[in-house]
Amino acid sequence: MSDKRQMLREIEWDVQETRSMTGMTALDSRVMEAMKAVPRHEFVPLGARHQAYYNSPLPIGHGQTISQPYIVALMTDLLEPTADDVMLEVGTGSGYQAAVLSRVVRQVYTLEIIGALSERAAESLRRLGYSNVECRKGDGYEGWTEQAPFDGIIVTAASPNIPQPLVDQLKPGGRLVIPIGMPFSHQELMVVEKEESGGISVRDVLGVAFVPLTRSSSKDE
Ligand code: SAH
Repeated sequence: MSDKRQMLREIEWDVQETRSMTGMTALDSRVMEAMKAVPRHEFVPLGARHQAYYNSPLPIGHGQTISQPYIVALMTDLLEPTADDVMLEVGTGSGYQAAVLSRVVRQVYTLEIIGALSERAAESLRRLGYSNVECRKGDGYEGWTEQAPFDGIIVTAASPNIPQPLVDQLKPGGRLVIPIGMPFSHQELMVVEKEESGGISVRDVLGVAFVPLTRSSSKDE
């Protein structure tokens, strides 16, 4: 298995390399502690375990990927999580991002449109003792109304636009971190902040490459 310390160093290098775009010179120490604690090798397929601590995305089946560790760390930081927060993730995938987030907030709800991935992630998270993560199969574009409002929402698949249901399910002062753009063309990681007045402010952070956010009509497993 490759080295987790090396992965953490590479995240720090990427933070420096991208600082002119992100305006960030370091990530929150709680986020870096979470990256150190979560066993990424438990969330990748057996055949890819030797690559689990590479700072790169990896295939997880069903045409989907576990995101690059630097991007997981950056997006977690951009949520500005605090210990009492309740967060929503759209795009559970392997469950890795949910595990990282669960270490810095009180409760994580995570939605995945592919049933088999949702079930596998739920099982990994349960086995590893992440008891403050709840997984559900569903179209995350619509959010999770029963558990709303959220202190923050993270979307880990690229959306052509800012989903209004997710803005509606944010608390005032809350943040939505989301890649916006079409598949295989330019995507921009954005932070959408819901103001106390209910309006939003939008900030571009970095160019990124995510798998597309699909809708319920196009996938039913
Ligand atoms: N966060 C994941 C990586 C996500 S890859 C991890 O840590 O491993 C993006 C995931 O979003 C894929 O699993 C894909 O099936 C899922 N997805 C795509 N469209 C979705 C939608 N509308 N609602 C919920 N999940 C969706």
